[in-house]
Amino acid sequence: PSDSAPDWLTRLNPPQREAVMTLDGPVLMLAGAGTGKTAALTARLANIIAQRRAWPSEILCVTFTNKAAREMRERVGHLIGPAVEGMPWLGTFHAIAAKMLRRHAELAGMESNYTIIDMDDQNRLLKQLIQAEGLDEKRWPPKLLASCIDRWKNRGMMPEDVDAMESEAYANGRGQQMYRLYQDRLKALNACDFGDLLLHMLTIFRRHRDVLEQYQSRFKYIMVDEYQDTNSVQYLWLRLLAQKTGQTRHNICVVGDDDQSIYSWRGAEVANILRFEQDFPGAKVIKLEQNYRSTPHILGAASGLIRENSERLGKTLWTEATGGDKVKVTGVWDAPEEARRVGEDIERLEREGLPLDKIAILVRAQFQTREFEDRFIAIGLNYRIIGGFRFYERAEIRDALAYLRLIAQPSDDLAFERIYNTPKRGLGDKTLEKLHRFARAQAMPLAAAALAIADTDELPARARNTLLALMRDLARWRDVAKESSPADLARMVLDECGYTGMLQAERSAESAGRLENLSELARAMEDYESLGDFLEHVSLVMDNEARDDVEKVTIMTIHAAKGLEFDHVFLPGWEEGVFPSQRSLDEGGLASLEEERRLAYVAITRARRHCTILHAANRRIYGQWTSSIPSRFIAELPEAHVDQSSTMSGGASLWRAQWSERDDPFAHVATRVDQQRSNAARGPGWQRATERATESYTPTPRNVVPTRPSTRSAASFAAK
Ligand code: ATP
Ligand code: MG
Repeated sequence: PSDSAPDWLTRLNPPQREAVMTLDGPVLMLAGAGTGKTAALTARLANIIAQRRAWPSEILCVTFTNKAAREMRERVGHLIGPAVEGMPWLGTFHAIAAKMLRRHAELAGMESNYTIIDMDDQNRLLKQLIQAEGLDEKRWPPKLLASCIDRWKNRGMMPEDVDAMESEAYANGRGQQMYRLYQDRLKALNACDFGDLLLHMLTIFRRHRDVLEQYQSRFKYIMVDEYQDTNSVQYLWLRLLAQKTGQTRHNICVVGDDDQSIYSWRGAEVANILRFEQDFPGAKVIKLEQNYRSTPHILGAASGLIRENSERLGKTLWTEATGGDKVKVTGVWDAPEEARRVGEDIERLEREGLPLDKIAILVRAQFQTREFEDRFIAIGLNYRIIGGFRFYERAEIRDALAYLRLIAQPSDDLAFERIYNTPKRGLGDKTLEKLHRFARAQAMPLAAAALAIADTDELPARARNTLLALMRDLARWRDVAKESSPADLARMVLDECGYTGMLQAERSAESAGRLENLSELARAMEDYESLGDFLEHVSLVMDNEARDDVEKVTIMTIHAAKGLEFDHVFLPGWEEGVFPSQRSLDEGGLASLEEERRLAYVAITRARRHCTILHAANRRIYGQWTSSIPSRFIAELPEAHVDQSSTMSGGASLWRAQWSERDDPFAHVATRVDQQRSNAARGPGWQRATERATESYTPTPRNVVPTRPSTRSAASFAAK
């Protein structure tokens, strides 16, 4: 660097600086986690503006999340002053496309004041169309159609591009027709959905050269972070923008890591980054190999793991950092113990002076957050959930709780309103209005009014009967509640009211997650003797709306944590069936397993100084204890970088498992051995995994103290 180079340039290493200084022609920065790709991209943006190579309004810069865009804006402002104020094209693909589409809405058949509909609206619309077409809505749920349409849009396909085979995905080949009807309906409403934002712009670019050329000449520079997770429509859109006709040099710079491609389920195609050099001949390919984020052990563990993937370019990572702890792998008895251990560790870290916002718990699936939330509430540890709702605030959980509240407390009008038509039973707003009026006049709660109104002719017979049936169900569940456990009650109610069936019919990744959340809810209830106790616990949890001015531990999914870093990262639930997920195992393909492994790589590489992986020996699934096998990913971590321990060999207290009387306390031992036998046939990775499992888990029978399930609530625990 020359003497006049600004501070922020000299701080970069040589390859980073090369990326920042190379301002002519395509640049591909392909490098592993934590090597400063995002940092270099940010510096490059600053450099372009500082050198006056382009005005901020002439630069297109795509980030993966809105948060990342905000951070980049701040960071550039920090580097070169407030010059970035007018930087209109910095954001996610969606944000940028929405901004463009406003200007050209009429070319997509809309007016410029078009609305972007959300998923609820989309669902309602699809439902109307499905009904109008006389299709069986139960067999062909709106959500299924929504996910097909989404997939087609992610691939840049208009209705006419959907071929017969694709069309088969919905209603025996009527997918294409329904897609077209939906698009027509949107147009008539002067509306579009999220997927349309990019698709419409892509279509406009294809059909209106003048518009395309206008943007091609506007954008002197195009930059994209996390390029490995672009999907087809994003790729096609970018390529049109970047490949200016008649020009040989294209100023596009993309950065990414093929090992961190984790969104193929949403249509992302890692091939996009691999063919960049073909798309943009003469691209300068820059490799960054020095990792600035993590300790050698964390890097060693992550690199060793990802090496097991066959489909990868392969990269070297090194660090100047020395020392640091090995990655800790801890075996625990069950999920409650997992949460307890993490809670204790965090309290210790806090005492040692580590701010809570430098700590994260990264989960594979949403349902895993519940155990941690309950525990943290009990011990008064502040936490926040990013990229999702807190467990008890999720829609499906609120619905389930509304049923339970109404069973416990028939005069709970809010609960009644929430569930009286969920799942759909054909009761509309009109019915509710009449019911409200009736209830007010008679000074009775809505549920009572629903019964009483049956003796009048205020409502049409159909609505009356539907309400009566619902009230009868509620009365019956109330009786059941007196005898059975809250958890059994919950499962029964959710099945019988049709909620479970509704989600199962949707057959989407999202509905699978919701089902998992519901069974997690039932699992949570197993610790409570009465429905009342449980509901009280929930209100305490909900009340704990954490304050904004305090530091908090972050709980989020690994998917949402991409690009972020934390001093200390906890990774719970590394068990076969949780991580890798059951879904990926069922699909069975190598590709889905390798994507799970990339996810594991992303998870470990979020850690700067400490990484703790946990796995429980037992999970309660649908009220049954099942023993779990440690994730194969644990066996794949190079031993030199791992510290393996288990709480299982320690004293009887740790063994105070919550056996229910119908379980044979030693059954799981036999199961495990059987599993090991059959797994041994699956290859060396499995062999190692199961060998380690035996090491840490072979229980010494005298340590096992079977007890009844604990009935002490977390709240009473907290009061101690
Ligand atoms: P990921 O693949 O996870 O997105 P990345 O390659 O984008 O990672 P960054 O987030 O840009 O990596 O950087 C990782 C960490 O290294 C950050 O804390 C960043 O500030 C720091 N860093 C980046 N470059 C340098 C450098 N040249 N000198 C010192 N620290 C650096
Ligand atoms: Mg990054």
